[in-house]
Amino acid sequence: MSATAQFVTATTVEEALAALAAGARPVAGGTDLVVGARQGKAPLPDALVAIHRIDALRGISAAGAGLRLGALATHEELESHPVVRERFTGLADASAIVGSRATRANGTIGGNVMNASPAMDTGAPLICLDASVVLQGPGGNRSLPIEELFTGPGQTVASPDELLIAIDLPAPAVGTGSAYVRLEYRRQMEIAIVGAAAAVTVEGGKVTAAHPDLMNDPAALVKMTKDEAHLRALWQAARAALPGFTLNGSADNRWPGNLNAWRNGLDVARLMSDLRTIAFSAGSACASGSGKPSHVLRAIGLEEKKARSSIRLGFGRYTRMSEVVEACTQIAAAAAAQQEFGVAGHD
Ligand SMILES: Cc1cc2nc3c(=O)[nH]c(=O)nc-3n(C[C@H](O)[C@H](O)[C@H](O)COP(=O)(O)OP(=O)(O)OC[C@H]3O[C@@H](n4cnc5c(N)ncnc54)[C@H](O)[C@@H]3O)c2cc1C
Repeated sequence: MSATAQFVTATTVEEALAALAAGARPVAGGTDLVVGARQGKAPLPDALVAIHRIDALRGISAAGAGLRLGALATHEELESHPVVRERFTGLADASAIVGSRATRANGTIGGNVMNASPAMDTGAPLICLDASVVLQGPGGNRSLPIEELFTGPGQTVASPDELLIAIDLPAPAVGTGSAYVRLEYRRQMEIAIVGAAAAVTVEGGKVTAAHPDLMNDPAALVKMTKDEAHLRALWQAARAALPGFTLNGSADNRWPGNLNAWRNGLDVARLMSDLRTIAFSAGSACASGSGKPSHVLRAIGLEEKKARSSIRLGFGRYTRMSEVVEACTQIAAAAAAQQEFGVAGHD
């Protein structure tokens, strides 16, 4: 651990910002920065500003119907806070397994997020819970969705003269629950191999929204935004609700906003006419409706007759899980009925 030439303690945000503008790095609980330097991971910066005495950065408070977490809120405070435990359970789960009791008493949510470690436990639940971060710099405050904060391991979009002030959590929709689990090789004092969080909303006994997210690389979180996670959940549910259909192409590396699948002997024109209230299209046709196999299906080498027995479903941000499952169940039943009543198979 190299010596730090300059060390100041700030008691206001303004003092801290002045130190950052002069080139200092903030240190909150020090459980990443100082412990890492002691372990030889990275030397301490030449100038440090301690922010743990800034009262304005402390606490967990109500903000409208949601919560504001001060950057200095510790994992111990988060795991024991009654509202966090009840309504933002995934975050309480994550904070409760950070390091040891001593780590949780000193380590802060701000430090956890700004450190942007691939093994950070709070990132995935915060994304699932629609958190946004508030950064303050010389030009004032800016707020951004937390998934836009991370750019890679140890990297964020915050500039060196910006301080994380708070993390805002909007009120979850009625019927929403969340959880966080991690894969670890030891029961205690282990960092995550991979962490998984989910927030799920249930309405009238049906899942209406699901936001899963994985944490093993902050940059991966950037790629898998809440929207994409929602689309993936819809895509999986649609596949499961379409027995007898075979996916066109590989399941890997594909955009989950589209599902294109075929079923042997399916008369797609008849299916579409039988199910006019459901928005799906013939998987074979390109956007012009020419009836020719689309360039995508040609590109993956699908035979023409299979392409003609293909359907295509599209999902978007506002598509609800219950709609997808219901529509696919009807499509699967109508397709099975066609087979039962003897539409000739292709193979
Ligand atoms: C033994 C041990 C076990 C651990 N186990 C886990 C674990 O299981 N899961 C896990 O996620 N983490 C774990 N950690 C890592 C660490 O405890 C957490 O990431 C903790 O939340 C860091 O908070 P801190 O306040 O100590 O951060 P600090 O070390 O003070 O800061 C970390 C980084 O964030 C920056 N920073 C801090 N606050 C701000 C701010 N307000 N604005 C801008 N930048 C800021 C600092 O400059 C530094 O780059 C462990 C650490 C130790 C030592």
